[in-house]
Amino acid sequence: MDEYLASTLNTAVIERLDYLDRLVSKGDEPSRAALAETEIARLTDAWRALLELHAPDEHSRCPECSGWRRPRRHPCTVWTIAHQHLIAADGSPAAGAGRHAAAAGRSTVAVLGAS
Ligand SMILES: [Zn+2]
Repeated sequence: MDEYLASTLNTAVIERLDYLDRLVSKGDEPSRAALAETEIARLTDAWRALLELHAPDEHSRCPECSGWRRPRRHPCTVWTIAHQHLIAADGSPAAGAGRHAAAAGRSTVAVLGAS
């Protein structure tokens, strides 16, 4: 991918994320409802595709993040970020899994609201 195409791709993706953020924070209720119907499925599809690329191989290594001389064990950064944002209660890295979350007394299990 040439530099111009990469830059265009980056800008388009960032602008789309900014648009979705604005819609969530400033959109009216019908817009947010439409957002939930369409964009959540797109975002979950995107996460699944990304996580599939970073799924561990037979040696428990990430094939995407591993270099020729530097294997990367699973979970790689992509899976760690996915866990932080999809599972951890507030999505911040400080609330992620691991000894720091346990030491802070935070749960690493998401709690869905009662419906
Ligand atoms: Zn990876």
